[in-house]
Amino acid sequence: MHIARILYPVKVLGPGHRVGIWMAGCRHCCKGCSNPELWEFAPEYRTSMATVMRMIGTIHRQHPIEGFTVTGGEPFEQAEELAALIDKLVVISEDVLIYSGYTLPELREREDNFIDDILRQTAVLIDGRYQEELNENCRLRGSANQTIHVLNENYRVSYQEYLEQRENEIQNFMAADGIISVGIHRAGYTEALAAGMRFRGLTEGQKE
Ligand code: SF4
Repeated sequence: MHIARILYPVKVLGPGHRVGIWMAGCRHCCKGCSNPELWEFAPEYRTSMATVMRMIGTIHRQHPIEGFTVTGGEPFEQAEELAALIDKLVVISEDVLIYSGYTLPELREREDNFIDDILRQTAVLIDGRYQEELNENCRLRGSANQTIHVLNENYRVSYQEYLEQRENEIQNFMAADGIISVGIHRAGYTEALAAGMRFRGLTEGQKE
């Protein structure tokens, strides 16, 4: 499987202290995408389920995991691997939020058992391609065309409260190769970040 990064605690992409999982590979090519570096199934992102679960297990032993946010890239490009991963994640927390460029009807049309398995175990799906011109700083959504689907009713209230109580925030993580900026970014954020970092003589950062 191809996973670009795993971060904790992600607090800006769903309620609570979450593990964020960025899957690599995406064919949507949305204009203004936050993560074009994750479009390729690059060899450096190749990893195994054992490695991923070892990392998550280490986090779990030391910290509370209140949910998972799976994004990318396009998680459904690796439907088989994602289905296997979710089987394991839900043992820790059933609050699994997935971002996909595919819409829910598009996913259901594929009549793929792996996709059915994923959707059955997904608490919330945020779907649709990113449309830069519709980036209106919507809560949890990159653009206004995207929809928040609560697929597990047990999580409807907690997500409703989260959406009502919190503004979009950005969280920065220090990484060996720079700063990883996580959250729902406004249009043009990439250029502004790069210009700001160049101005300060810093390495260009990454963002989600
Ligand atoms: S679906 Fe997401 S990762 Fe893929 S191109 Fe669109 S914004 Fe980028």
